[in-house]
Amino acid sequence: MNTEKNRYNNESLEINHLGLIVADNAKSLLAYWDKDQICRFANNTYYTRFGKTREDLIGKYKLRELVGEESYARIHPYVQEVLKGKDQQFEHTIVNLEGETRQTKVTYTPDIEDGEVKGFFVKSIDITELKQAHEHEKNIAILQEKNKEMDAFAKIISHDLREPLLNIKQYLMLIDNEYKHHLEESAIGYINGIHRSLERMEMLTEGLLNYSILSQAKELEQVDSNEVLNRVLEKLELTIQETNAFIKAENLPILNAYKFEFGILLENLITNAIKYRRENTIPEIAISAVPLHKGWQIEVKDNGIGIEEKNLEKIFNMFQRLHNRKEYEGTGIGLGYCKKIVELHKGTIWVESIPGLSSTFYFTIFA
Ligand code: ADP
Repeated sequence: MNTEKNRYNNESLEINHLGLIVADNAKSLLAYWDKDQICRFANNTYYTRFGKTREDLIGKYKLRELVGEESYARIHPYVQEVLKGKDQQFEHTIVNLEGETRQTKVTYTPDIEDGEVKGFFVKSIDITELKQAHEHEKNIAILQEKNKEMDAFAKIISHDLREPLLNIKQYLMLIDNEYKHHLEESAIGYINGIHRSLERMEMLTEGLLNYSILSQAKELEQVDSNEVLNRVLEKLELTIQETNAFIKAENLPILNAYKFEFGILLENLITNAIKYRRENTIPEIAISAVPLHKGWQIEVKDNGIGIEEKNLEKIFNMFQRLHNRKEYEGTGIGLGYCKKIVELHKGTIWVESIPGLSSTFYFTIFA
């Protein structure tokens, strides 16, 4: 009989001890405050959060004293309610001992015995990272929605502009055919001017249309970037010959990518690296890759005119150009397009440059 009782006592002691270990190892702040708001229990996370020891806290501190006037003013309504026997749950912003602002989710549960509230249990969880992740997901969803709207808008514009463009072209052809011999030299010059503008508009609308359909569902595949690069270089053969450009590639990987788009990305960067060359300097372009955790970082370095620091970010905006067409032909779509391709591969693109000497475009791919 006696042994039975001892065993029970031993077991219950052990359970109490274990309970304390469990509470002390919990990531949540756990505490018990009596109805006079005096601390009767606090786990390790709780008392260290306030820079105290358990002995400092238990039986000695009142809630108001511990948390400070400002914080107490915010939690007071919930304390009043839980002491009336009602469960409470709320979010609370705190500044921890390191001075960081943290978001917490707090639960107060009344301790009721014989219909009387004896005190309340506190559980407080740090939800800062969770909230940040949630916020991040929300922002991505908003961004994706905005991108979709942009795509739809770009598609409508580019699509709808094609028809009047075609009409103008046909009327010009009619004028050319029927009135060519009656027109003065200057009028023919104007018509040629219109032709050139039309061509440019066609280039812009086509660029816009390609941009807008870029995010449509495509198949990821294993892509040998050496092979893609070779095809791009074949396509640019004439420009490479004309400019004597020297292109060197190292360590290019086999990676998961959207093959066609990946090719356009390389093509645009190499075309720019050649186009924005320095006068009297043979373009030298080095392409290389560095493995990342679950992805790749690829860089395209040139020895061209470079880009001033203030323009490093804005060149990735659609239609953003730093030069007029007399200096360098272009539409300002290329890098906007590159950015979108990189984002399609869950990566980022950026550039570093020494103005007058070189530019290095970096992009990552995590597809
Ligand atoms: P585009 O070449 O049609 O103007 P892009 O979007 O490809 O349009 O490039 C935007 C601008 O960024 C260019 O007008 C040019 O000023 C600058 N740029 C792009 N690539 C380079 C480069 N490799 N070196 C120097 N400037 C560059």
